[in-house]
Amino acid sequence: MAESMVDKVARITKNPKFIRNICTSAHIHHGKTAMTDNLIAAAGLMSIKHAGSLEEGMATWQHKDEQERLLTVDAANVSMVHSYQHHEYLINLIDTPGHIDFGGNVTRAMRAIDGTVVLICAVEGVMPQTETVVRQALRERVKPVLFINKVDRLVKELKLTPEKIQERFIKLISGFNKLIEDIAEPQFKQAWKVSIIDGSVAFGSARENWALSYSFMQKKNISFKDILKIYEMNEEERKEWVWQNAALHEVILDMVIKHHPDPIDAQKYRIPKIWRGDLESEFGKDILSCNPNGKLAFVITRIVVDPRSGKDISAGRLFSGTLRPGTEVFLNNARQKQRIQNLYIYNGVKPEIIESIPAGNVCAISGVLGNAGETVTIGEEQAFEELKHIFEPVITKAIEPKRPSDLPKMIEVLRKVGREDPSITIEINEETGENLISGMGELHLEIIENRIVTEKGVDVKTSAPIVVFRESITKTSPEVEGKTPNKHNKFYFTVEPLNPEIYRLIKEGAIPEGRIKKKNLELREEFIKTGMTAKEADQIKNIYKGNIFVEKTRGQVHLGEVLEMVFDMFEEVMKKGPLVREPCVGVKVNLMDMNLHEDAIHRGPAQVYPAVREGIRGAMLLAGPILLEPMQVMLIEAPVEYTGELSKLVNSLRGQLLDVTQEGNMTMAKAKMPVMSMLGWSSDLRSATEGRGVSSLVDQSFERIPFELQTKVTDEIKKRKGLTDAMVGV
Ligand code: GDP
Repeated sequence: MAESMVDKVARITKNPKFIRNICTSAHIHHGKTAMTDNLIAAAGLMSIKHAGSLEEGMATWQHKDEQERLLTVDAANVSMVHSYQHHEYLINLIDTPGHIDFGGNVTRAMRAIDGTVVLICAVEGVMPQTETVVRQALRERVKPVLFINKVDRLVKELKLTPEKIQERFIKLISGFNKLIEDIAEPQFKQAWKVSIIDGSVAFGSARENWALSYSFMQKKNISFKDILKIYEMNEEERKEWVWQNAALHEVILDMVIKHHPDPIDAQKYRIPKIWRGDLESEFGKDILSCNPNGKLAFVITRIVVDPRSGKDISAGRLFSGTLRPGTEVFLNNARQKQRIQNLYIYNGVKPEIIESIPAGNVCAISGVLGNAGETVTIGEEQAFEELKHIFEPVITKAIEPKRPSDLPKMIEVLRKVGREDPSITIEINEETGENLISGMGELHLEIIENRIVTEKGVDVKTSAPIVVFRESITKTSPEVEGKTPNKHNKFYFTVEPLNPEIYRLIKEGAIPEGRIKKKNLELREEFIKTGMTAKEADQIKNIYKGNIFVEKTRGQVHLGEVLEMVFDMFEEVMKKGPLVREPCVGVKVNLMDMNLHEDAIHRGPAQVYPAVREGIRGAMLLAGPILLEPMQVMLIEAPVEYTGELSKLVNSLRGQLLDVTQEGNMTMAKAKMPVMSMLGWSSDLRSATEGRGVSSLVDQSFERIPFELQTKVTDEIKKRKGLTDAMVGV
């Protein structure tokens, strides 16, 4: 009997040389959905083709099955088998749905994969979000290839000749390569540039299901002029020709197989970037070599609901070991043991239960509830690097159930939402009963609220949105003493603004966060490169949310006994700053000296905690403390006749137009605006453009709030939080 499709997929999972783990990425509207739909349809087609009838296959390919589409809304992954040079390959395509969550999903998907197909529109070229997604990919050492989409527009709308089209491609490719040149790490700057000749660039029309690359044109003996011929054919002829000569999925999958690394090759260079443990350890060697017989290392990248059982399943990447159902595993972030119930691979978009799966694969497990980013192992191991999101939540709302009896259910749902979308932060306070939900913007929170109501069936009401701020300092403080309540111990702190270069490296993930337990030479080098002395670099003991702690005491015999407590409070103050208890950024805290009681009994947490907390907060209040407000850069697209209205709108919101360009009859305006004045943005934009404008988030930063606003805003926050002047120490 012929091998079933699932058996075929299962067979290839055991041979990592023939696996490619990939995703697609693009600026909004450049055709990611169109391409993903095509590949999903192709995956469906392949199973049908496998079953026999090619005719039927082509029908599926052209009339995408609605049922299948519905499933894909929550599909984490699509797997397909593709033949290339007489070998069968398994391609796992991680779907990163929607742009609406502003990148959270994209970042997580990048952890699971080794290559990405970046789409750019042939008319618009490299756009701000193209840059964002390429940055996200390169940060995880995910290799890009390029697809130039919407080539039909060059022919039909711009009426370009083949020569002009080629010129255009050259320009687009060099624009893309400039991006790689600018942001890739030195060792990838050349190696990861794309080129027509080597076939790492393809072009075509995702909407019309065709694509070509140089190598494919050679294989099929097609010349560039043939492209124009496509548009002289009638629809039926064109479909037939495309199907025979330039099927999108074939060209894309060929390119992926040839240019994207297999998991064994990829893990060699990706692991040192995404995992900071000892590469010489047994675990380190196992993940570096993608060892199927090694220690288990699975990273969860997405939580989805299995459409059939309604249960949560965790999709992710297996870096080492072999997964089997029934195994008891340890979740390193949650610090919990749990048991794997079922194990799934994907057959097209359908999860299918399987008995075991070795390293190098993308797969899913049930029975294990962890957040996206969780490292699942057998015993405790060094966890993988935290999944960094380019943007942090800037808007918070309090949320409560309409029926008080729904509270436990709502809390459960909130926890689940937090697991599914890590760009959302959930704060559950069971004591005060206040539950907070934070996200990238009003729209983001509205979507989540909607999902809670419609998908999860809990009716909720939410407060007005509250903007999230940051605290920082502007100068070096004098030395400040923190005394324990029993007066037996004293700590001496100074604080100073952190070198912005170090802050940037932390934010970009080049400098990892966490408490530093033993000497780390690589990290030391990073600090020295920023101009820090080697001595001081060695004294950095904790890096926390964009702040650092430097331990400068000398000859303290009891240091080891109190240091963890000191860290606890350093982190506490960085979470809740001295001005209005908002998170701190860009602060360097120096522990200069301390006097400790000989007897450990007199220096427990009840003593050390308040002394350290007040010491650091006191020093910060003497260091020119300031409040930073979130700013967002939006890319606004609207018909040109609204350009004037747009500029008025941006000005009225304390915003600034950074860049305005025109593409055809559309205006593209980049505007930077304070989040505080962007409350109600969607409807403001709608009324300014009579509903014709759209906007997307391209960048975000925290900037000093204008002087004349600081007092007003701090007073408001204090009032809202019920903070008195005595409590905040002013
Ligand atoms: P996404 O936002 O990147 O997912 O983009 P979509 O796939 O939703 O495409 C955005 C718009 O561009 C839709 O109206 C598509 O129909 C259109 N589109 C996608 N691919 C092509 C193409 O190859 N040619 C043309 N002319 N339009 C396309």
